Order: sequence, then structure tokens, then C-alpha cells
Amino acid sequence: MSISSQLDEIRRRITDAEKRSGRTPGSVRLLAVSKTFPASDVVQAYEAGQRFFGENRLQEALEKIPLLPPDCSWHLIGPLQRNKVRKALEAGIDLIQAVDSLRTAEAISRIAGELHQSAAILLEVNVDAEESKHGFSPQELRDQWESLVTLPNLKISGLMCIPAPVEDPQQARPSFAALRELTLELRKRGPLPLDILSMGMSHDFEVAIEEGSTLVRIGSAIFGSRPSPHTEPEMLPGQNDHHGRRL
Ligand SMILES: *Cc1c(COP(=O)(O)O)cnc(C)c1O
Repeated sequence: MSISSQLDEIRRRITDAEKRSGRTPGSVRLLAVSKTFPASDVVQAYEAGQRFFGENRLQEALEKIPLLPPDCSWHLIGPLQRNKVRKALEAGIDLIQAVDSLRTAEAISRIAGELHQSAAILLEVNVDAEESKHGFSPQELRDQWESLVTLPNLKISGLMCIPAPVEDPQQARPSFAALRELTLELRKRGPLPLDILSMGMSHDFEVAIEEGSTLVRIGSAIFGSRPSPHTEPEMLPGQNDHHGRRL
């Protein structure tokens, strides 16, 4: 199937999930996750009307951004090292989704100030308390909330999570519900509206929408399958990716 017809199919399933769960139609935004796929694939998605794109490595985003029309919005969905914050903000990343510590938030705040910008971010929450995963624990986020919300030049727009991998998407439901509840709790504390709840990927986005997601991050269901997640982040310079590009 073409990227355009895959996109149509995903949009239809998003609309169905919105209706089924009493969500406002059109309230869920689709982020097309283009990591590992060439810019030509992103162009196809663009021509099919897609405007929001997500990359998990800054370098790859920097390569693709100039190849797409300027009305695209780019989200960084992978971890951002503090020494790359300046590059990310200068390149026009519109939303840094996976801010996983107060120190990183402080670095973004400081550099955004230097660049006379306000940086939009989401805070990543390790909802399933996985050893291997980045993110604030829910308790850490509660404890550090006052420090986070007082950082200048920062727009904390909401929370994001990547639940532990499960066979049946229904098993991810409690993790999505936990992120929603944490969002409601932090909204009550104020002063931020926290209107973005970034959760749900190709295999579980419908459950995520039922649990309140406002932004689903979908890659393989639009662009096709990627190499195994175990090899992908460790690819070293000199290797080829699955499109045969030299890395
Ligand atoms: C790769 C990735 C996605 C998309 O995953 P698919 O299963 O291909 O939809 C979503 N979110 C993050 C943070 C990712 O790294």
C-alpha cells in the first residue's frame, strides 16, 4: 500500500476511535514518525496532506528539515543531549517531546533565553517504571513540579510516555490511564493547561485515544517496517541502514 493510502487508513481509524470514546472529532493530532525513512517518503506523506513529523535523532531531523516545505512542523521524540539543545532550537524543532529530567529542562530554558525564544516541550514520564527507560518517574515529576513550572523561556505543553512493550494493546491501557491521571493532577496544581497528551504508537494508538491521548506518534503503520529496535539506536558510523544509506 502507498504511504498516502496508509495515511488515509490511519486517519479513518483515529476518527473512529474519537467517535467511539466520545472524544471531540479532530481533537487527536497525528504525528507521522519518519525516523529511518528517507526524505522522499516524507515528501509523499506531505503531498498526502500530512504536516506533523517526528524524528527521534536530531541529526536525522536536521538532514530532512531543509528537504521539506517550510509549513511542516517537526517534533523531536527521542532523548536530547544537553549539548545538542542549541542546535535543536536553531534548527526550528517545534516541540521537544522527550524531556526526561529537570537538568535537561533547565538547559533548554537557558539556551532558549539566549536565543530569545520560548521553547515548547513535553515531559516524558516513565509510567511503567522500567529500568531501561528514560523519563521522570511520576513521583519525581510531582516533587520537581514547582522547579519545572518556574523555568523561564519554556512552554511545558504536556506529558508523553512510551509504555512497556506488550503483546496485546489492551495491556497498555493502564499505562495510558496513568499518564492521563497524572496530567489531571498536575493541571489542578497549575498553572499550566497541559493540553498535549502524547501517547499511542502504531500498535496501540486506538487504546491510547480511548484513554485521552491528544497526539499519536505513528511510524511503521504509515511508512512500513523498520529494522529491529534492538539494532537501530546502536547503529555505528560506517554501517548502512536498511535503505542502504551510509550512516
Ligand atoms: C519510533 C517511535 C514511534 C513510532 O513507532 P511505530 O511503532 O513505528 O508507530 C513513536 N514514538 C517514539 C518515541 C518512537 O521512538
